[in-house]
This record gives sequence, structure tokens and C-alpha cells, in this order.
Amino acid sequence: MHNTRMTSRSDPDELPARRPEPVADALRRPLHDLRISLLDQCNFRCPYCMPEAEFHSEYEFLKRQQRLTYDEIIRVAGGASTLGVSKIRLTGGEPLLDKNICQLIERIAALPGVEDLALTTNGMLLAANAEKLAAAGLHRVTVSLDSLDKNIFRGMSGGRGNLDQVLAGIMAAGDAGLGPIKINVVVQKGVNDHTILDLLEYFRGTGTIVRLIEFMDVGNRNGWRMDQVVPSRSSLLQVQKRWPLRAVGKSYPGEVARRYEYVDGAGEIGFISSVTEPFCGDCSRARLSADGMLYTCLFANQGTDLRESLRNGADDNELRDILSSIWLQRADRYSELRSPDIAEHHVLKKVEMYRIGG
Ligand code: SAM
Ligand code: SF4
Ligand code: SF4
Repeated sequence: MHNTRMTSRSDPDELPARRPEPVADALRRPLHDLRISLLDQCNFRCPYCMPEAEFHSEYEFLKRQQRLTYDEIIRVAGGASTLGVSKIRLTGGEPLLDKNICQLIERIAALPGVEDLALTTNGMLLAANAEKLAAAGLHRVTVSLDSLDKNIFRGMSGGRGNLDQVLAGIMAAGDAGLGPIKINVVVQKGVNDHTILDLLEYFRGTGTIVRLIEFMDVGNRNGWRMDQVVPSRSSLLQVQKRWPLRAVGKSYPGEVARRYEYVDGAGEIGFISSVTEPFCGDCSRARLSADGMLYTCLFANQGTDLRESLRNGADDNELRDILSSIWLQRADRYSELRSPDIAEHHVLKKVEMYRIGG
């Protein structure tokens, strides 16, 4: 039996704390998720995200003083949690390049209202950090891993990744209890699409959920072309020929992956089809870049500078008002609007993926 305490209507102090009513945008989509990019640097140069030719040794990444401090991040995350955010994801760039990340995780995990705290990583530094991350209060990880073919994997990491090290990281994350682990696979035509089944086979029956992601037209620096996209329906057919699948419903409103399970009981896989089957209808995510810009869409061409407000002395109420008014005005639905003229839309100036972390 639940241990309930009697409360009296005449004594409001005795009522249990209620979750705040989420603020809803112009299309009535509530604010639920906040993605926080900790830094714009990365130890990989995935050609679909940070191609080496653009992000070379002379490229100027943000300087420390340009990045939000942990205190500033906590203020934004705390403000967002009072407006309905209950899910927070740490990302980058590569978030595990931030050596003090566990201090931040402890503080975010302690914020009232944060029910789910996740991290997206390329996995290279995960084996060494998994236990510390879990001890600090991280709930789960998503690891990006595009192929189990060593050469293809290495090429898709821009020549920097070590497959065994990433697999060891995934194992360590499982041992540390950072599950259910999700694996993000960006599927590119003629690059890794012929290696998807091997990757799925490896993770079948382990409880790890692989998500096949369409190569997206994020940013303007990755040379995106439609003919490099493998539509999710093709990947789905490819998988179904090998293992029958059945669709399952969303596990929460705003989930971007379409979920399937293997009919033989070997677990779940997901398809993220931003290009061919847009899903703006219940998009509930805000994205904070490392330099404090808040974006309300992955494909936004402008954001709101929160760092300026924070450093100009905005108090918590003012910050909350700023966040709330940004979300109230939000009407983004880029991926729905861009079809069928996707090439035309792609030339519009957009924020880069490595700045807002997917
Ligand atoms: N560095 C970390 C990682 O790779 O997991 C976190 C940041 S990364 C930008 C977040 C996710 O975005 C990764 O899963 C990556 O594969 C995905 N991504 C980057 N560029 C993409 C693109 N053009 N299309 C689809 N997914 C992309
Ligand atoms: Fe780095 Fe992640 Fe972008 Fe690859 S996808 S370059 S690992 S930020
Ligand atoms: Fe959300 Fe923008 Fe993606 Fe639509 S295009 S799902 S609004 S992030």
C-alpha cells in the first residue's frame, strides 16, 4: 500500500508539490525537453556534422569566457524546469571533453522537476567515465555509432574514432546502469547503409535500442544532399526482410523516433525520419548552445541570447519571463514546411548541429 498522508483542503501547505503547468507555444506544444550543449569542440570530425575541411586546426572554437558557466547553465535549466521542462539532455560538440561534467550533472540532477537526465556522446571517453557519470546522477546515455565496420566507422568519425573504445564505452555504460542505452546511427547512402543489419544484429537481445537516423539538412557546412539520404521506409524494409517488426506506440508525447519491436522478442529499434516524415506536431524541445543562445528549432536561423541577459544581471523572475515569452511565441515547424522544396530550404542560413547537439 502507498504511504499516503492525509491532506486537508484548508491547509494548502500540506498539499504535495505539483508539477508546474508547462508553458505552451503558439501551436500549443508544451515545453518539456531542454538540450544543453556544453561545448562546441569535438574529438571527432564526422563529415556529416563537422567536416575536417571546415573545422580544421585554425578553426576558432568558443573561448572559455564565451561559454556559459555552470552557474549560468543551472540558472537556465532551473528556470526552464519551472516552465515544464522535466527532461534534460547534455550534448555538444562532445560533452565528455568537459572534464568537470560530473559537477554539473550533480547540480542538474538535484533540480526540482528534472525526471530524466541523459547525455549524448560519441562514446570515445565513455569507458573511463561511465561510473562517475552514474554516481553523479546521470540516468542514461545515447551513444552515436554509425557502423561496426572498422574502416567505415573510422571514416564516419573523420578518421578519429576507435571502434573498440566506443564498444567498451557502451559496455561500461551498461555496467554502470546508464540504460536503457540508445545507439544513434546516421544512415548515409553508399556510406554505411549496407552495414546496418550487422549493427542491429550485434545489439539485438541486449536491451540496447538502435535508432536509425536520416542524414539531416542541419546547418550549412556538411554538404548535405538529398541523394545521400536513405529514407526510413527503405531502412525499415531492409530490416523487415531479415527480422519481422511490429510498430509500437510512442513512449511519451514528443518522442521523435518511430518505435518498432522485433516480433521474435529481441528488443526495440527506432527510426528518426526528419527529412521524409517530419514530426513537428508535438515537438517539445528547446536547445541551449554553449554560448548561451536559446533555439526553439534544430533548423533555426536565429536564437535568443540568454548569456547577455544573465551577465547583465537578470534575476530568476526575469529569466523565467524571458524563457516563457520565447516559448509562447514559438511557431517553428521547419521540417514540415521545407517539403517538397527541400533543396531550396537548405540554402537558408541555419544553426550548425555541433553547436546545439542534435
Ligand atoms: N558528439 C556527440 C555525439 O556525436 O553523440 C553529441 C553531439 S552530436 C551533434 C548529436 C547527434 O547528432 C549524434 O547522434 C549525431 O550522429 C547526430 N548528427 C549530427 N549531424 C547530423 C546530421 N547531419 N544528420 C543527422 N544526425 C546528425
Ligand atoms: Fe562530434 Fe558528435 Fe558532430 Fe560527430 S556528430 S562531429 S561526434 S559533435
Ligand atoms: Fe522540432 Fe524544428 Fe525539428 Fe520541427 S523541424 S521537429 S519544430 S526541431
